[in-house]
Amino acid sequence: MALKLYDTWTRTTREFQPLSGRTVGMYCCGPTVYNYAHIGNLRTYIFEDMLRRALELNSYQCKHVVNITDVGHLVSDADEGEDKMEQGSRRTGKSAWELAEEYTIAFKADLARLNILEPSIWCKATAHIPEQISVVENIESKGYTYRTSDGIYFDTSKLKNYGYLARLDLEGLQAGMRVELGEKRNPTDFALWKFSPAAQKRQMEWESPWGIGFPGWHIECSAMSEKYLGSYFDIHCGGEDHISVHHSNEIAQTEVAHGTRLANFWLHGYFLQIQDSKMSKSSGEFLRLQVLMDRGYDPLAYRYLCLGAHYRSHLNFSFESLTAAQTTLDRLRMAFYELPEGGLADAKFVDDFTACVNDDLNVAKGLAVISEVLKSSIAPASKKATLVVFDKVLGLNLAQWKPLVEAVPEEIMALAQERQKARQEKRWADSDVLRNTLLEKGWEVKDTAKGPELKRKIGV
Ligand code: AMP
Ligand code: ZN
Repeated sequence: MALKLYDTWTRTTREFQPLSGRTVGMYCCGPTVYNYAHIGNLRTYIFEDMLRRALELNSYQCKHVVNITDVGHLVSDADEGEDKMEQGSRRTGKSAWELAEEYTIAFKADLARLNILEPSIWCKATAHIPEQISVVENIESKGYTYRTSDGIYFDTSKLKNYGYLARLDLEGLQAGMRVELGEKRNPTDFALWKFSPAAQKRQMEWESPWGIGFPGWHIECSAMSEKYLGSYFDIHCGGEDHISVHHSNEIAQTEVAHGTRLANFWLHGYFLQIQDSKMSKSSGEFLRLQVLMDRGYDPLAYRYLCLGAHYRSHLNFSFESLTAAQTTLDRLRMAFYELPEGGLADAKFVDDFTACVNDDLNVAKGLAVISEVLKSSIAPASKKATLVVFDKVLGLNLAQWKPLVEAVPEEIMALAQERQKARQEKRWADSDVLRNTLLEKGWEVKDTAKGPELKRKIGV
């Protein structure tokens, strides 16, 4: 049952074979730390974590590298406008360096809450300036660069295959953007090194063979992936927006510098949307994981929600679907908790689950196997052991979970008893009023065969 993955380069689902041995080199484009990550960004990291866990389920080890973009990502993808870090610094009144530090810490805390495994290597752009300069020098020595008044640019027209990953229509782009070209020779050309503006001292700038300035955004990933994984490695990931610009440019740089297309497989996670439009950091309003937690949701309920949609489909976020995910997760946790220890995983169910995972990470289909296990007639201890195997990929931390026994305040208990009395006396209207009073106070009452149960209300 081989692992098959959809590769954006070939636009096909191919059997995954590592380039050498059992260790898989995987590079994932990390966050630009000028703001908090929103739950859309986090969906991409959940997908990459699932991929890593799927590789581990198939007995590969993963050398997982994630970068931190703390310089060079400009407001516009056309390499114009301000550096997002300097813009963030103006917005918050903090230095770009302080911001990078704070948002990196916040980002790592979000990943931990979502039970995303720590990468083997974190690397930040500002700590790899000499490596980036060296790749630019290499590209320059091969004749693929030119100088404008604001930087050193990559001439994409010199590369035969430029934009293949995105199947870019270069002629169409050229015709559409002739007017806005400025000093750039082609619309798809991009900055390798930008000069600090003459009249302005930037917070982040360095000496280089071309003058004081800072690296373009794309060069960091070519330089750091080469340093940690070599110039041709197994898998490169990111969100779908990276296909047409960032990854196309990373490939162009590495192709010229090293003659490789950087990675054997290119995998992209599709966007989380709100009301059918993309969630983005720059468009102001966005939801952080903390907002979900403030509303009473467990971060792993968001993880569960993401697992339920294939990574190559858009996921529309709503609080209703998050509430449903929380309820299903709560039930699963309780069912798991009540199962006894000491059994062996059931080979057939593990195979069924692995078949879903290995079919281009169809974890959503894999979730359905959970209910089959729970409903089946295998021994209860085997059910538990089987779910432990599934959870290596799902990352729901089932074995660590315990029911939270929260003391119900006396006032709430008294209201619930009053409601129960009203029900017994068939005073339904009174019972409804009391249910609403409880809800207003943040408690939900559920009537079960064992009598009424009180639970903290989640959601808005
Ligand atoms: P950034 O911090 O903007 O560089 O983005 C970090 C990661 O999040 C990248 O891999 C993006 O492709 C990805 N991303 C950005 N917006 C979304 C979204 N709405 N849904 C899923 N992934 C996203
Ligand atoms: Zn990148």
